[in-house]
Amino acid sequence: MVLEFRHDATKNITIISASKRSQRPTVYSEKVFCPFDKGSEKSTPPTSFALPENDWKVRCFENLYPVLKKEGEFKKGEGFWKSNAVGMHEVIVETDNHGELFQNFTEEQLKLVLKAYLNRFKFFTENNEYAFLFKNYGKGSGASIDHEHSQIIGLPFVPEVIESESRLCEKQCFFCNPGEAVLETEHFKVIAPSFARFPLEVWIISKRHVKTLLDLTEEEGLDFMLLLKKIIEKQYEKSKDYTIAFHSGFRGKDFHFHIEFYPRPNVWGGIELGTGVIINTKTEEDVKELFQTLTTQSP
Ligand SMILES: [Zn+2]
Ligand SMILES: [Zn+2]
Ligand SMILES: [Zn+2]
Repeated sequence: MVLEFRHDATKNITIISASKRSQRPTVYSEKVFCPFDKGSEKSTPPTSFALPENDWKVRCFENLYPVLKKEGEFKKGEGFWKSNAVGMHEVIVETDNHGELFQNFTEEQLKLVLKAYLNRFKFFTENNEYAFLFKNYGKGSGASIDHEHSQIIGLPFVPEVIESESRLCEKQCFFCNPGEAVLETEHFKVIAPSFARFPLEVWIISKRHVKTLLDLTEEEGLDFMLLLKKIIEKQYEKSKDYTIAFHSGFRGKDFHFHIEFYPRPNVWGGIELGTGVIINTKTEEDVKELFQTLTTQSP
């Protein structure tokens, strides 16, 4: 498979040309074979990390249909540059139980998932310029398999959107003072950005100014996972398709760790695609309303 970065200087974005990837199988039923199930290990690349080791409940391996390849030389150029799409791409299967949803995970399971995130994030950070952890759930998010999983990619450059956020972390950090929270725990704030792109979008921001997941204490890590579970559960009532983006720092620059949660109930149309101007039919007031039951339930 030819995998190539192609930079679009007209929009300052980078495309990965991945011609064969559309051939990957789709699994949206419990009846057909699922490569993420226990017992299907031979149909995926070998395990890179698993917990517990002898009888896994969380399992990581290289993506069988990677969007980045391990071999080759990367060279970023000027203007409409092209290069081998060099990097890494793994899958983190978050449960051995095909039908179990993230919002129903036990605390024990959430701890294992966090350990896998930390292990792979550390490995990817050490071996790439930038590590990006993300989760797609539901057909509308682009996920091809409905068995709960996340993915991580290692890029040979820092994406423009991250560079741009990093500039907001210098001097007066935006994320240290992001405005009113719609939900709060001891260590995290959930905000509904007034400029959100997706209906009911929320961001989870650590109260401490830390760069990545790796800087969280064990207590903060668990607090984060329990909060994430709560948010997914609530959002799932409104949209069964969603994407989670982990925005983390990179070498040499300041950053404030946060995740962005994008509900994906709609498809972007002409205005969004043609102009970059995005229409969002919900506001932060709608998010407040959705989260109201959670805030009143809290002790
Ligand atoms: Zn499965
Ligand atoms: Zn900060
Ligand atoms: Zn961000």
